[in-house]
Amino acid sequence: MKPNEYKRNTRSAILMIYTGGTIGMKQDPLDMTLKPFDFDQIIEEVPELGKFAFKIDSRTFDPLIDSSDAEPALWKKIAKLIYEKYDDYDGFVILHGTDTMSFSASALSFMLEELGKPVVLTGSQLPIGVPRTDGKENLISSVEIASAKDEYGHAKVPEVAIFFNSLLMRGNRTTKVNSENFNAFLSPNMPPLAEAGINIKYNSSLIRHPDGRTGDFRIFTDLDTRVSILKIHPGITPQVVRNILCGPETRAVIIETYGSGNAPSKKWFIDTIKEAYEMGKIMVNVTQCLRGSVNMDLYATGKALEKAGVVSGNDSTTESALGKLYYLLGKSDDSKWIRTMLERDLRGEISK
Ligand code: ASP
Repeated sequence: MKPNEYKRNTRSAILMIYTGGTIGMKQDPLDMTLKPFDFDQIIEEVPELGKFAFKIDSRTFDPLIDSSDAEPALWKKIAKLIYEKYDDYDGFVILHGTDTMSFSASALSFMLEELGKPVVLTGSQLPIGVPRTDGKENLISSVEIASAKDEYGHAKVPEVAIFFNSLLMRGNRTTKVNSENFNAFLSPNMPPLAEAGINIKYNSSLIRHPDGRTGDFRIFTDLDTRVSILKIHPGITPQVVRNILCGPETRAVIIETYGSGNAPSKKWFIDTIKEAYEMGKIMVNVTQCLRGSVNMDLYATGKALEKAGVVSGNDSTTESALGKLYYLLGKSDDSKWIRTMLERDLRGEISK
């Protein structure tokens, strides 16, 4: 990591953490592919940052990655850096590739416990050096949001959030929905936390604040990644379902179901779910639909899953369910406790 102090001044202080992604990429003249370049060059590209009347420091991760290579090790590195620098800065802006940004934001929302400062992830669809880039606006607004305080001097958005294309969204509610346009992210089941127009309008009633009941800011990085995702589809075979649900390396499975949480009602399917439950596997039901929630009481097919031991993921995204499972499995061996926590709202990730 290379420290780079951009501007020394008073009032707020922001730490930008550059992990890679399109925002800081440029074309390699040899093969014309986009490859990451040094963060110092990003700073040169955004002189507007110098107009903020506060200190903005930056750290560049080594290596810089395309976020398709993001792993829990990256989240741990980010969490540890935020923990180390927590008292020195008022907010953190993480520059990250868009492909897995929702996964990283979701996992970080659980790993950063009792968070009292903004952690805003952003990136872009076009590299920051390109004239029509969306990267500048995303970066400048993210810095402004990360430094925003209320009249009592408290952070306006002490959450892990994603800022993209004028919208600030709770990170664990987002999903990447567009690989071509600037509106790459959606928060399908929750309105944005803020909207950037001429002014930045905060949706204050939706923003979460730490209640301090369980102590001060801390991080949990001991994730357990023994989780699989089973996407139900017509024609899915018993062998595939068995391999995923009952595989020895899997402690938990996210079952991506149809509509309001429905899956095949065939006997072999329900029997395999029951068998997995008997083996102690944790199964959480998340809908394949972009909007709406799982309700296993609505149809007999959903009810059968519930009876067989599947837990409702409510209106969780798959990205969020994955981060939550990594976090909960890392915290405990007690399947019953994990199932209870899965149905509980821990970081605003479900509407309950
Ligand atoms: N492949 C890139 C990444 O996720 C795409 C992007 O940044 O938009 O790192």
